[in-house]
Amino acid sequence: MSEKVRCLIIGSGPAGFTAAIYASRANLAPVLYEGIQPGGQLTTTTDVENFPGYPEGVTGTELMEDLKKQAVRFGAEIRNGIATSVDFSVSPKKVIIDGEKEIEADTVIISTGATAKYLGLPDETKYAGMGVSACATCDGFFYRKKVVAVVGGGDTACEEAIYLAGLASKVYLIVRKPFLRASKVMQNRVFAHEKIEVLFECNAVGLFGENGVEGANIVKHAGQANEEKFDLAIDGFFLAIGHTPNTKIFEGQIDMDETGYIKTQAMSTKTNIPGVFAAGDVADPVYRQGITAAASGCKAAIDVERYLNETECSL
Ligand code: NDP
Repeated sequence: MSEKVRCLIIGSGPAGFTAAIYASRANLAPVLYEGIQPGGQLTTTTDVENFPGYPEGVTGTELMEDLKKQAVRFGAEIRNGIATSVDFSVSPKKVIIDGEKEIEADTVIISTGATAKYLGLPDETKYAGMGVSACATCDGFFYRKKVVAVVGGGDTACEEAIYLAGLASKVYLIVRKPFLRASKVMQNRVFAHEKIEVLFECNAVGLFGENGVEGANIVKHAGQANEEKFDLAIDGFFLAIGHTPNTKIFEGQIDMDETGYIKTQAMSTKTNIPGVFAAGDVADPVYRQGITAAASGCKAAIDVERYLNETECSL
């Protein structure tokens, strides 16, 4: 038998929990399913120092626990479980949890986030939180006057390299191709920066260090006659090779861009499906910050409230 819900929130990052806080305060009795990674991406970072309201910083896990407590305090129901399929062609929307439980939802807020891509090296896991990061804005501050490497050749990598160059003493940009994919303006900024050195046609194949990252093993011109191997002394290793929005289960159900980010209508969190809203990184390839995700979660709950008012009044 299916369960009827007025406001279903899928995902438990800052967007999902903020939506839950606002929706519960608006008496919408939201139900939130936490998904594969309860608390979202912030639980994989160490200290968060740029989320307003925490002058001394806070760990990612504590921040998410605080947001969760705040949502629960106002009556949001937080549940373990993963949305495994959806049907947005019907009204109310159907969402299947853990492949078996059916929810019928008047409104759905999708806040399933995005996942940073990693190279897949075992050392990335070994040094997670000990020198390996996929977010320069989050962790760059810990590398003041240190030497870091950024992997990638797109706009994100260039942006992260420039950001880190404002803090670190030296930034290596490790690019697998003989050119950057980033926009011309970003390329020019990178090339003009005295602290950034671009290492073209290089791949990082391993990391080393006693109690954290002390260096990376690099292969230049891999597989070619002029292949060269060397070690790069670094304190931090930043991945900037793209993010994957967590939208697999929504494919074919909702409008997305060519990389899988959910499209929202200008100045709102509305998707092309009435009653379905998207908040946080799942709809944001550009800013991707905890605070911007939280803000869009707030907007989504307000959009839901207005949608319900309009549809329920017109019945
Ligand atoms: P992109 O997909 O544009 O670039 C990814 C980069 O990572 C490429 O250089 C790619 O190399 C490299 N890469 C991918 N996999 C590997 C690997 N296994 N090993 C080594 N290198 C790898 O992602 P971005 O996150 O940079 O950008 C995503 C979108 O967001 C883009 O459209 C971008 O323009 C946009 N963006 C815009 C910004 C702005 O306007 N301010 C800021 C940031 C992003 P290769 O080129 O060889 O494939």
